[in-house]
Amino acid sequence: MMSMPDKLLALYENSQVLVAAYDDFDRLRYANRSFRETFFLEPDEEPFWHALMRRNFEAGRGTVIRASDFDEWLTATLSRRGKIGFRAFETDLVGGRWLWMTEAVDSDGWMLCIASDITALKASSRTLRQDRDFAMKAAYTDDLTGVNNRRYAMARIEDMLASPKADPLAGCVAMLDLDNFKYINDRYGHRAGDFILKDFAKRIQEQVRRADCFGRVGGEEFILVFPTTSISEAELIVERMLGLIRISRPLPEDPDFHYSFSAGLAAATHGDTASDLCAKADRALYAAKMAGRNCIVLEKDLATDALRRRGSD
Ligand code: GH3
Ligand code: MG
Ligand code: MG
Repeated sequence: MMSMPDKLLALYENSQVLVAAYDDFDRLRYANRSFRETFFLEPDEEPFWHALMRRNFEAGRGTVIRASDFDEWLTATLSRRGKIGFRAFETDLVGGRWLWMTEAVDSDGWMLCIASDITALKASSRTLRQDRDFAMKAAYTDDLTGVNNRRYAMARIEDMLASPKADPLAGCVAMLDLDNFKYINDRYGHRAGDFILKDFAKRIQEQVRRADCFGRVGGEEFILVFPTTSISEAELIVERMLGLIRISRPLPEDPDFHYSFSAGLAAATHGDTASDLCAKADRALYAAKMAGRNCIVLEKDLATDALRRRGSD
């Protein structure tokens, strides 16, 4: 029967785990097969650790060393190596493998080094991170047009209203709605309708300033959020957008086809909630539709119209 130490060595030799021991001069005194294969060691070799690292670095294999100058890296690494009783860290190898490496130093200064392959773990956590990023993006993005969705745009309005800059000039919101879209769908088909929605989203998105936000809130309705922007400044921006959409000819098979949108614009006033502000912009949008479409109406003008009407009663 094998003695216990022999049995242990046999187990090590056949294990996937990398096992090595360095003496108090940092010379390799034992390495199992996995370790030898990973670090390109012949069976009977007993190199110093730094010589082994240098050899692999020069051959472009083994541990990934993120430094152009090996000696600089070596100096920095030696200043930490084996200085504390136990150390555990991730390390990656040329070729993409990842190891979870532990180094345990005993009172004689010998070091036991054990490493496990965690490449699969790394990959699955990377996939998980990617999945999470993708899900986050999907939660804020409109599928058809790729612009922000209602949830995202509403959150930006909340931010705008909560910002310390919100007094006295919080900003404005514009509601945009494509004109006669039901007719367009009926006349040109739903696919053409989708195509026009994408054309619209792309053209408007191109005009949006960095601090502003553009999103699709439903069907053929969109929203623009203009933080710390005066109503006249926002009006100029939306006017320019009206002009750009008027000249768009999105259907190649119908080169004369053109479309338009109507817009309602409202400025935030003190104490407005996001839904108050949207309701004001919606009222202005409704007035723009009533005024014949393809135009912009400011909510503040509705108020004065109403006042004027009241005044003339
Ligand atoms: P108005 O000028 O008053 O806004 O008239 P409208 O026809 O645009 O307004 P209405 O609300 O009556 O119709 C909106 C139409 O938009 C109805 C619906 O079929 C269409 N629509 C909504 N979402 C989509 C979509 O994702 N793709 C397509 N192709 N059509 C859509
Ligand atoms: Mg419409
Ligand atoms: Mg509509």
